[in-house]
Formats: sequence, C-alpha cells, structure tokens
Amino acid sequence: MKIEAAVARAKSAPLHFENLDIEEPRHDEVRVRIIATGVCHTDMAIRDQIIVPMPQPIVLGHEGAGIVEAVGESVGKVKAGDRVIISGDSCGKCPSCQVGLPSYCYEFFQRNFSGGRPDGTTPLSIGGEKVHTFMGQGSFATHVVCHDRNIIKVANDAPLELLGPLGCAVITGAGAVINSLKVGAGKSIAVFGTGSVGLSGIMAAKLVGAGKIIAIDLRDDRLKLALELGATHTINPNKQSIPDAIKSITGTGVDFTLETTALMPILRLAIDVLALRGTCGFVGGAPEDSELTFVTSHVMNGGRTIRGIILGDTNPEEFLPKLIELHALGRFPLERLVTFYSFKDINQAIEDSLTGKCVKPVLRF
Ligand code: ZN
Repeated sequence: MKIEAAVARAKSAPLHFENLDIEEPRHDEVRVRIIATGVCHTDMAIRDQIIVPMPQPIVLGHEGAGIVEAVGESVGKVKAGDRVIISGDSCGKCPSCQVGLPSYCYEFFQRNFSGGRPDGTTPLSIGGEKVHTFMGQGSFATHVVCHDRNIIKVANDAPLELLGPLGCAVITGAGAVINSLKVGAGKSIAVFGTGSVGLSGIMAAKLVGAGKIIAIDLRDDRLKLALELGATHTINPNKQSIPDAIKSITGTGVDFTLETTALMPILRLAIDVLALRGTCGFVGGAPEDSELTFVTSHVMNGGRTIRGIILGDTNPEEFLPKLIELHALGRFPLERLVTFYSFKDINQAIEDSLTGKCVKPVLRF
C-alpha cells in the first residue's frame, strides 16, 4: 500500500513529502490511519541529530491519533474501526513493563530510537530504499504500522484531533506532577518552561490542589496563559531573579520543581531553589552526554531529591483514559494548548513551534 509521509532526509532541513510503500501489519502489529498528530520539540531534535543520532531518511512524529484499519492475527486489543492514541513502544515482558512502567522498558531505546523495529527492519520504503520510523510509529504520515503495545484504545466519541499529544507531551508534564512527584494539596511547585509539557504540569498541579503554582518563562504571553490554566504566580527571568522571586513567593524555597527546558543552568537553578526535603523532577530531552554539577551539601543536608522522569512514569493504558475523562469534564483544558495546522503545512507548524508562536501544533489529515 502507498502512503504519503513527510520525510526527514537531512539535518535541520524542511521535511519532504513523499509517497512511500508501507508493509502489511505483522501478526502483532496494527495499521492506523492518522487523523491528527502533535508536533513535539523532540521530533525536531531528532531531525537535527541533537539528542541521539538516528538514521535518515526517517519519518518522525510520535503523537499520533487515528483509526485502526487493519490488525495482525494475534492482535486482540483492537479491531478495525477502533479509535486509538499511539504512544511509545515497549516489550511488555521486562521488569519495568511488568510493573506498568513501559517508559522504562529495558528495550526502550531499541524500540523507539533505533529507527525501526527491534529486529532492524522498518515497515516503510521507497523504490527499495529503507525509510526509518521514530518511536515505533512515525506519525507524520497518512498511515502508520506499529506494534500493538504502542496503541491505547479510546472511546468511539473521543475527540481524536486533540488527543495525539496526550501520548507524549501531556503525560510527560501531568504524569510528572501526579505520578512521579506526587505533588500534594497545598504544596508549592515551580515549573521551569511553559511549553506544552510545562503547561500540562501546571494544569495537573491545579487538579491536585497544589497551593502556590509558579510558572517561569521568558515569554509574557506564555505566562499569561499559565495564569489562566492554574498558575498562581509567574516569574520572567528577564525582569526578576528566579531565586529572589521564589524566596519572596514561598519564604523558604519551593517544595517541588519541574524542569522542562533541558538547559543545564536552569536545571541547576531548579535544584538550588528547593525547600528542605524538596524534589526536583526533570524531563527535558538534553543531548545524551549532558552533565550537571550541584552542591552536594545542599542536596544531602536538606534531604533534597533530584529525579529524572520519562513520560511521567505513566502506564498510558490507565492514565490516558483518566485524562480524557477530566478533559471531558472541563478540568483539563487541553484545547488551550493546541493550534491546528493542515498536514501539508507541517514545515510551518515546526517553525511556529520552534519560535514559540504556538504551544502545541497539531496536524490534521
Ligand atoms: Zn519492557
């Protein structure tokens, strides 16, 4: 079967529309017709070979949502016509998968960052040339063939156009606050960076009844949106010192920090401003050899914790339906983050995401 895909063939170059061949699903795979997909900074970082080098040509995109068209003979969880969100791939058998934490799958790298299936093949090609896929999907395409563990079934009336980003950006921010940091009622939290991950964290902090919710960003328009979504205070480091502002807001330091920028000096600040027994969670995709120094006495004597988090420590099969329900109740206003683009305008969407013109571009097919 032929599909249309936006293919990355060079570092830092626009994606290129091509008609690719896609294989029929294997026994444990499904083919999904994409209805919408989020565009994530990680897609761009992979295109530009910033996080880890991945082979090209490659179809990026890992926040897909769509409708199942075909299933392999051993797939039981979905059938043709079902609506699904596509998240990362995992093995289902390792110690992390066994306890419902597939984002720490022992085969996570192989299944999501190798450019294809764990056996080295990919379902995509053009004129005999192999085309790679990202995160076990490659959703910048009209269709995806992926493993059945990538997909989460949602209700038939679920608003698919909004739901793709749930599989990455939203669970990263909201999951970090709810599952990893377990921010409790009345606790204070500072969120560094108000992109889709940071704003999802702020919405989650409001949901769990956090007290002071401090949004930090260089852009005043983002800080305004953060206030509308639940932040109680904002800091623009162009105008105020972050440590001074946090001290004056909290008195003693902040109970939790969520670092989303992947900038090491900012991560260091997110550790420095913690209150006694505070925890810093960090989720930004920095280059794989990034290093950070911190004052050990500050962390040890204060009982402070530094915690790396992938995809919000979530089991997407359980967590995503809860977020969809909260969205339906108006308590998780996901639509406030989204700007829609047509698939053909993907390069514009990427540019607007990189310049910060929009928070979360979603491509519609
Ligand atoms: Zn696993």
